Amino acid sequence: EQLANQIAAGEVVERPSSVVKELVENAVDAGSTTIDVTIEEGGLSLIRVTDNGGGIEASDMQTAFQRHATSKISTSSDLFRIASLGFRGEALPSIAAVSRLTCVSADSNGGLARRLVIEGGHITADEPANAPQGTDMSVRDLFYNTPARLKYMKSIQTELGHISDYINRLALAHPGIAFTLKHNGSTLLRTMGTGDRLQVIAAVYGTSAAKAMLAFTDSDSDYELTGYTSKPELTRANRNGITVVVNGRYIRSHAVNQALLQAYHTLLPINRFPLTILELGMHPGLLDVNVHPSKMEVRFSKEAELRVLIERAVKATLTAQRY
Ligand code: ADP
Ligand code: MG
Repeated sequence: EQLANQIAAGEVVERPSSVVKELVENAVDAGSTTIDVTIEEGGLSLIRVTDNGGGIEASDMQTAFQRHATSKISTSSDLFRIASLGFRGEALPSIAAVSRLTCVSADSNGGLARRLVIEGGHITADEPANAPQGTDMSVRDLFYNTPARLKYMKSIQTELGHISDYINRLALAHPGIAFTLKHNGSTLLRTMGTGDRLQVIAAVYGTSAAKAMLAFTDSDSDYELTGYTSKPELTRANRNGITVVVNGRYIRSHAVNQALLQAYHTLLPINRFPLTILELGMHPGLLDVNVHPSKMEVRFSKEAELRVLIERAVKATLTAQRY
């Protein structure tokens, strides 16, 4: 069992940002409206994610850290459940196998919090605690017992870059959640959770970027599309400023990028890319998730139709602004 968890950890927990991703997605899934992420030394000495979500019931605490323990199989946000196939219910035991983890959680059951400590996969404490509703996960000394993995870690700046990029995009995907990201004591991101996406764009990319954004929205019988894209004057040298959100999850899609660029194609020189946050809503059945889950790449079953919609919506906005 412990070996199985360490093997699974090799797939789920590639680097500190994978831990952040799993913990923060759990916090989102728990219905949190506030999620605070605290990092030390690029995540190698500490990754702490605190949320105010539904919490874990005291009697479920140990179960949550067993393999294939998931409480989510039948929830409506099934999209990324499908994407996570194989990782389902594997994140917490995998993380706990390769770190010193402390989980304090309380559900709505009035102060019956529980504190669970797991070191290298072994439970070293399980006791009652005092805590407000929500979950507080601290992951210390990641990979301390898997030196081979530790050796592959890049610099603190590189690992932090991955974490920061991920939190930025998640904040863009969830303007209704207030996020903070702190590294070694300094605040790198703070969003308000008001639901206003332009506010998040300002927090992530700066106020002048937010002012240069154009809203677009459109739909057809299969897809709901909304988002913001930059005026052609404000472009970037790479695609990293394009964020695609599908049914509330941040994903990557070559098809979406292509359609977006097609809308700009007479306006932008080659190798310039708009800053864009593009959100799609659709029936989960329209999504093929046949690619490696951790890369977040998805395919759409009606891709041609989707491309037409995106190009049309973005072009309409640009044209209305006389571009
Ligand atoms: P999965 O997310 O695929 O269900 P995980 O190993 O990530 O598997 O988590 C196991 C279970 O622990 C979840 O299904 C959920 O019930 C519980 N859990 C984990 N993190 C949280 C959290 N922040 N708030 C509430 N419940 C959580
Ligand atoms: Mg999870």
